[in-house]
Amino acid sequence: MRQVKIQSHYGQPIILEQCSQCGGIWFDESELFRAKQGESDKIELLDTEILRAPANIEGLARNCPRDKAQLFQFKDRYFPKGIILERCPSCKGVWLNRGAFTRFQQARKEFTRPKEKGSEDKILEEEIERILAMHQAGDATGTLERLGRFLSTPMDRNTLLPLEADQGQPEAENTANLAMNVFMLVLRALMLR
Ligand SMILES: [Zn+2]
Repeated sequence: MRQVKIQSHYGQPIILEQCSQCGGIWFDESELFRAKQGESDKIELLDTEILRAPANIEGLARNCPRDKAQLFQFKDRYFPKGIILERCPSCKGVWLNRGAFTRFQQARKEFTRPKEKGSEDKILEEEIERILAMHQAGDATGTLERLGRFLSTPMDRNTLLPLEADQGQPEAENTANLAMNVFMLVLRALMLR
């Protein structure tokens, strides 16, 4: 593993561990969510040497580089398709195979891209309705409740963790930021349940 540096949403660097053989990336808890949009390109697409290397590593039982717990593949029908993510039940860190970080960031970008001019509000509304409908139709997993708690709690935009009461309310967001935040909260709620 070697260390690679990327930027978070608000400029603070995040140091990730990248496997120099397979190109997979280890994210400590919440680092995946804090990574600034487009940072995946810096450590995946431009790394041509790694892109040429074989990536046939699916199915291997991996252990957490922090605490050696066995990683489990994260599967959820609401999670963006084509992204294989393994996470540590102990420290909540996640492992992404080569290319999956890029796909994760692309999924986030797709979510926030307006379908047509002025339709951001409608998209956000539809997306929230869709998520709620899916959860109401499915078995009770607690995700919806958890998501509700996230959405009604003032969040630190950097870490997506609840703000302390004395830090006040977050600034008003434009719709694109709000959509992004909802997307990240949904993913986070799915992963933490
Ligand atoms: Zn761990």
